[in-house]
Amino acid sequence: MERSELESDIQYLPGVGPKRAALLRSELDVHRIGDLIRLYPFRYIDRSTVVPIADVVPDAAFVQIQATVASSEFQGKKLSVWVQDGTGTMELVFFKGIKYTADRLQPGKTFLFFGKPTAFNGRVNIVHPEIDQPGTVGGATVPGAAQPQGTAGPAQGAAASGVMTGVYTSTDRLKNAGITGKVMNKLMANALQLCLPEIQESLPEYILKEKGLVSLNYALKNIHFPTDAYALRKATYRLKFEELFLLQLSLLKQKYIRSRADKGIPMPKVGDAFNKCYQALPYDLTGAQKRVIKEIREDLKSGRQMNRLLQGDVGSGKTMVAVLSSLIAIGNGCQACIMAPTEVLAQQHFANISKYLAPTGVEVALLTGSTKTAERRRIHQGLEDGSLGIIVGTHALIEDNVLFHRLGLAVIDEQHRFGVDQRAKLWSKGAGGIPPHVLVMTATPIPRTLAMTLYGDLDISVIDEMPPGRKPVQTMLITEGKRTALWRFIRDQIALGRQAFIVYPLIFESEKVDYQNLEQGYERVVQAFPFPPYKVAIVHGQQSSEDKAFNMNAFAAGRANILVSTTVIEVGVDVPNASVMVIESAERFGLSQLHQLRGRVGRGSDKSYCILVKGQKVSKESQKRLELLCATENGFELAEEDMKMRGPGDLEGTQQSGLPINLAIASLARDGALLAEARTYAEQVLERDPLLERPENGRLLYELRKDKYKVHDYSRIS
Ligand code: ADP
Ligand code: MG
Repeated sequence: MERSELESDIQYLPGVGPKRAALLRSELDVHRIGDLIRLYPFRYIDRSTVVPIADVVPDAAFVQIQATVASSEFQGKKLSVWVQDGTGTMELVFFKGIKYTADRLQPGKTFLFFGKPTAFNGRVNIVHPEIDQPGTVGGATVPGAAQPQGTAGPAQGAAASGVMTGVYTSTDRLKNAGITGKVMNKLMANALQLCLPEIQESLPEYILKEKGLVSLNYALKNIHFPTDAYALRKATYRLKFEELFLLQLSLLKQKYIRSRADKGIPMPKVGDAFNKCYQALPYDLTGAQKRVIKEIREDLKSGRQMNRLLQGDVGSGKTMVAVLSSLIAIGNGCQACIMAPTEVLAQQHFANISKYLAPTGVEVALLTGSTKTAERRRIHQGLEDGSLGIIVGTHALIEDNVLFHRLGLAVIDEQHRFGVDQRAKLWSKGAGGIPPHVLVMTATPIPRTLAMTLYGDLDISVIDEMPPGRKPVQTMLITEGKRTALWRFIRDQIALGRQAFIVYPLIFESEKVDYQNLEQGYERVVQAFPFPPYKVAIVHGQQSSEDKAFNMNAFAAGRANILVSTTVIEVGVDVPNASVMVIESAERFGLSQLHQLRGRVGRGSDKSYCILVKGQKVSKESQKRLELLCATENGFELAEEDMKMRGPGDLEGTQQSGLPINLAIASLARDGALLAEARTYAEQVLERDPLLERPENGRLLYELRKDKYKVHDYSRIS
């Protein structure tokens, strides 16, 4: 094979060498020269304007001034240089290389200084500005630009060439090793010089034409050294599209391959149990529930394995969908399991599901960590001989000694709480070596763009309609000053026969300080609501499961008026009589989580309230989040907003996925429309050429082999 610059070790790039190469590898994950040119600037500095000193304000963006050195002065290890430009005087401060700098900045000489102004002792100064000779900008010499494609159009505006300088992610270690912003620009110029001639277009010609995208060559050149803002926009758009398109292509291709390869247990019938349950339902299913059940039915009878994600807001009625799906499995001679993340939830599921199953005669049992040995034995036996049709439980379900006669369907509630290995274990329990159909249910609404990436290889169903009769929950934001009024309000609600949740943040289950918050909070609540007549229960993660269940049940049964808790009640818990949800230090929760908590109330026929108590110091952003929660009850809208504010990486449920949700240039939060478009293109390409065997798609296959686009089979292994 020909020698490839792109594939060359980064240490051979002029200006790098072994020492810097080690840092580029460890700090930036850059191993080859080709990796470097795919490291894009995260912003740009416009060095085309010179700002008069009189106009420089502190904490503005970076500024460039042109000024003459008036005097300089050493103060211990600090060098102060005073410069003036006719509109004013400014101090420049240096802590490193001060001897060299003082020599260079001779009084009377004029330079361009570039840096970020800060306020210090009531004055504005710039610490460690970059220094250039007037008439030069940046430092790197830019290799000849490839011509844009016809579609790029002529450059608009007449900005000088190379005035926008890219700024790259850096670290202290890089800076200490002398890899400054300026050096990065230089390295990038060197890398482009070497690599541009061998860059091959990654996207098929017909897509470039149809979408009016610039070539990869042009895009890479202009993402690092934009000739002007227009070229930069073109380059950015093209690279974003490429990234989103290749990722979607990879996900969809995998899904396609699997759907052809993975046999599923055929379930052609609906069966008696389903029909009996359906006819005995105390209510009509919502349109959304019906639609989703139909989607699941289609999957189950297809002969291929179902891998479906069911998203539905809290209270949208997912349990019923789980029950009816399980009954289809029963109707086809199979068993079903329903797994929940916590003991409390599993118990509640079991209680509800038992009710629904009563008319069907199907046997159901509950298996959790605290199931007694004798009962456990009975359950194991029933699962093995097939007399037990449906099993509800926690992680206890996937232990090695749990064997099924014929497991056909696994329903996983709140899937993100299950780890990698656990899911894999579940797969191995299928009937006759065929993996069970999998239905993953989540009440954390995931923005569409994120779902398409995180679960790109799953089918997605959405329940976007609430059962009738749910009243809106009135949400209010208050400060500590309103505490007395809040207690009075809760007393009034209790007098009306209602109940209240009071939730304290518990970010790390193990952190002592969080428990102190909770304990102190509990003390306060008990003081404000003394026994008799009030009864306050408390539930948290460090209690034994018996204590937890006891307290939880006391509240659910109406024996306690108030439940003080951590977020253990976040998922699933159903107490229709509870009308107040108080969330303490609400700013410490994510939007989606707050929304979930709020969903615990408003389940009964009474008007419900969610009261957010905010702490003393709340950032502007948190304040905005909390206000948004007061303004809308749409979980998907909140999730979108949460993603925009916090970034996709911080959203609940995304951390463990291991998928590249923090992309190199595109943003799942901001580029939703482009993502949808990229996905449509990916679908079209695969429709015509599912395995990318055609010559015009050959390059795509090559691109998908890159680590970045290698998606693991999420539903199966991870
Ligand atoms: P989630 O989606 O949060 O799991 P659940 O399945 O717990 O929601 O349902 C919430 C409540 O709504 C339950 O009390 C359930 O009985 C009720 N419910 C579910 N579907 C309907 C429906 N179609 N009509 C009326 N009530 C319903
Ligand atoms: Mg539920």
